[in-house]
Amino acid sequence: MHKATVRDRDINGKTALVRVDFNVPLKDGQIEDDTRIVASLPTIEYLLKHGCKVILCAHLGRPKGEVVPELSLAPCADRLSELLGKRVGFVEDCIGQEVAEKAVQMQAGDVLLLENTRFYCAEKSKNEGEMLEFAEKLAAPAELYVNDAFGAGHRNHASTYGVTKYLSPCVAGLLVEEEIEQLTRILIAPQEGFVVVLGGAKVEDKIGVIKALLPKCEKMLIGGAMSWAFFKAKGMEVGLSLCEPESVESAEEVLATMGADLQKLMLPVDVYMQNVAGDHQIKYAAADAIEPGWDALDIGDETRKSYADTILKAANVFWNGPMGKFENKPFDEGTFAVAKAMGACPGFNVVGGGDSVAAVTKMRVADAIDHISTGGGASLEFLEDGSLSAIEALDSK
Ligand code: ADP
Ligand code: MG
Repeated sequence: MHKATVRDRDINGKTALVRVDFNVPLKDGQIEDDTRIVASLPTIEYLLKHGCKVILCAHLGRPKGEVVPELSLAPCADRLSELLGKRVGFVEDCIGQEVAEKAVQMQAGDVLLLENTRFYCAEKSKNEGEMLEFAEKLAAPAELYVNDAFGAGHRNHASTYGVTKYLSPCVAGLLVEEEIEQLTRILIAPQEGFVVVLGGAKVEDKIGVIKALLPKCEKMLIGGAMSWAFFKAKGMEVGLSLCEPESVESAEEVLATMGADLQKLMLPVDVYMQNVAGDHQIKYAAADAIEPGWDALDIGDETRKSYADTILKAANVFWNGPMGKFENKPFDEGTFAVAKAMGACPGFNVVGGGDSVAAVTKMRVADAIDHISTGGGASLEFLEDGSLSAIEALDSK
């Protein structure tokens, strides 16, 4: 990586502001999945080993600039305490008097987590002056900045970008370094044997990565409700399947602009659909036989088999997005077929995005995946642009 990391600078004994990605799923105040907290441990432990005072900041959910108690980071402080085996302090604010007081009391090896930065609207403000003013306050107690929030690397917010104007050095954490290194392997993969698997619902969110990777890959396998947008753009019947106008427009744009590369774009050849307008019966159909009143909710058996075969033969494969409405059985089977093939693929394989990661975990194939990205949107944006704006703001090596 061309950016400096915690290993490249003298950080010994310093007070570090560390932006982490603790945007974890919560249910009734409990952390449902602590993957992102676990992923932050190498950097935190590295800093502690070097006698740093570690001040962590992060966002959680979308509180829209207000204090939303359900979106407090306090449960993350408790979980982190357990994982580190030492008490992690918590401040119910991320700037101001109380933070300053706690910070000056810190000893080498202490860890302090600040409250959700998005409780302030300035964190994400489009008004640069306002955003920077907040960033300066956030930076105040620290001497150096470490960005280890890969999942927020594509956001120029106060805590991911603004603070780089007020602290020096500004370096990447070990998670960011690992993510960039692994995703770079996908980015520079030779065309032969490079397979991209994209699912989910919104083509408009993924149009950038489709356009960027279609010329570079050998095959792009499309699944999930995204497929129906392509069907509709081709004039096929999609019945009552999930198919938003923006997605259809984006699919039309892909079909109109990608020329010969479209040969590599694979769409489902069959589906499982449900009669949502009638008795809710479920039926198998060829892709061109989706009926009015029916909702196509998963890819069919032929598609599963051909996608799995393609994945198994891949030298490099990147997967983002479920193949169907996988939250509802039996429409999780297409996604699981892909997860299983990913697990069995001997090539270099990477999975990004919350839903696909959940599928590989549930299929117990996570250990067989070379890299599981902690960032969905960030991994897509990195593969599209080859860089992430907040990471670019860090010091060069
Ligand atoms: P991601 O979060 O992986 O980037 P999206 O947010 O675009 O993907 O879409 C994920 C959602 O799409 C999931 O909730 C999934 O249930 C839904 N989905 C996928 N395929 C279908 C389908 N055929 N019909 C309805 N919903 C679908
Ligand atoms: Mg999503």
